[in-house]
Amino acid sequence: MAKNQRDELVFVPLGGVGEIGMNMGAYGFGPERSRKWIVVDCGVSFGGPDLPGIELIMANPEFLEENADDVLGLVLTHSHEDHYGAVLDLWPVFDKPVYATPFTAAMLAAKRAGDGIVENVDVRIMRPGKPFTVGPFTIEPINVAHSIPESNSLLITTPVGRVLHTGDWKLDPTPVVNAPTDVARLQAIGDETDLPLALVCDSTNALKDGESPSEAEIGATLAALIAEAPHRVAVTTFASNVGRVVSIVRAAHQAGRQVVLSGRSLHRIMGIAKELGMLEGLPTLHDQDAYKTIARDKCVLICTGSQGEARAAIARIARGDHPVIDLNAGDRMIFSSWAIPGNEREVIDIQNLLIDKGIEVITQNDALVHVTGHPRREELRRLYSWVKPQVLVPVHGEAVHLTAHAKLGREAGIPNVCEARNGDMVRLFPEPMAFPSEVRTGELYLDGLVLCTPEESGVKGRRRLSFGGMIVVSLAVNSNGQVVSGPDYVIEGLPETEDESLVEIVEDAVTGTIKSLPPKRRTDPDVFSSALFKAIRNEVNAFWGRKPNVNVFVHRV
Ligand SMILES: [Zn+2]
Ligand SMILES: [Zn+2]
Repeated sequence: MAKNQRDELVFVPLGGVGEIGMNMGAYGFGPERSRKWIVVDCGVSFGGPDLPGIELIMANPEFLEENADDVLGLVLTHSHEDHYGAVLDLWPVFDKPVYATPFTAAMLAAKRAGDGIVENVDVRIMRPGKPFTVGPFTIEPINVAHSIPESNSLLITTPVGRVLHTGDWKLDPTPVVNAPTDVARLQAIGDETDLPLALVCDSTNALKDGESPSEAEIGATLAALIAEAPHRVAVTTFASNVGRVVSIVRAAHQAGRQVVLSGRSLHRIMGIAKELGMLEGLPTLHDQDAYKTIARDKCVLICTGSQGEARAAIARIARGDHPVIDLNAGDRMIFSSWAIPGNEREVIDIQNLLIDKGIEVITQNDALVHVTGHPRREELRRLYSWVKPQVLVPVHGEAVHLTAHAKLGREAGIPNVCEARNGDMVRLFPEPMAFPSEVRTGELYLDGLVLCTPEESGVKGRRRLSFGGMIVVSLAVNSNGQVVSGPDYVIEGLPETEDESLVEIVEDAVTGTIKSLPPKRRTDPDVFSSALFKAIRNEVNAFWGRKPNVNVFVHRV
């Protein structure tokens, strides 16, 4: 049989490989010219200060759109934004099912509830240990511990081989709320040797030695810190880490304190957790309106904003402009979180504000108050030893994490280790091999309500304006070359000093140009405006040392 006629299992990372965030990958099965595809995850990244105005970034699904007839469905490993945040923006055009656990499905339904998008998405419930079939793929969700309920690895089986797509996971023998990683099932996968196995695996913590501390250890530390505190305790954490929130609530209860929740996402997610029966036996949680009625040494506040988000509860408390909640000198504030790269500055600013108020700030640098939900090196080694993969593809990481993970895999004796990047086509079976940059990938920005490519977005111009400010000059000239109206000026974002005003410099440049240009030439709006443009730019540059953005309008009347 010719090579391009035989059935192959391929993996195409579209996002999240070479970066942390916007995870999206496709698995294809069949001969090269007629493959069927399933997509795993559809996440976002967040725009930083270098992308003014851009809130969300997602992987460009162009490749999938080109093969839309053969795309059979989307499987979500869990409901972290970097795995499911782009579903409502990118998936509806495919009009194919989305497979998700009950918690992930409820999170999706609550997302932008009321705008009617999620009603158009065909969500089907999947459960760990219950395999289902999508075209030539059999997909088995396997429960794994992570930092959000109902995280899954996916065992994807095809006639030529299997893949274990780990999603985000760690080994935690004593997680809170969720069951531990299903080690028995993973070991059984390694014992089933009829079909070869590829491992597509989380690299986030591949630089960290040893094993992750357990969520239960974090809970114990938090309990001690809450019990010994003399006054109020406030804790901020990721709202989606239901297990962590439950640990804080239990710790508060043990210390005889009441719990107040502040922040919309906390209420939303705890509401979902309650509906799904995850909070059985937990004491009542109060809304922020109860805050003032609880004695200072009987209160634990759980609030949003661990990433320094300006509008979230903790930022407003730190600035002293929260409508209901305040903290005072002697209170204790615990950051049960870490700053996702890019957010460090904002988080430190908030910590500084709190410290200046005399509030005691405790972070993961001071005590074991946080652990991420990703496997460290010893956990990765244990997974290799259980599932015995023939192929390893490190994903979910920047180059530095992917390389470290690949090296670890080679040292552990995995025969084929493939350092792929977004857009590569990785043939897993038969004959594992990577074909670099086979597939067009890229980013899409959500710019306000507009979904567009980086080139289409207004970011470039916005950045230019932020450096150069803006000068607009408008005037009208008659058929004799006389200025009959204006000039009018708009000047934005330029320096104003006492000794020399930029307004005057601009005015002088304009009047000088009018004088020096013969009336005949002033009758031509193009000639006149380009002369004004050059003069303004040169004069302002001579004063400021920087070229402003200049717009000149010359109207002929
Ligand atoms: Zn995650
Ligand atoms: Zn993730």
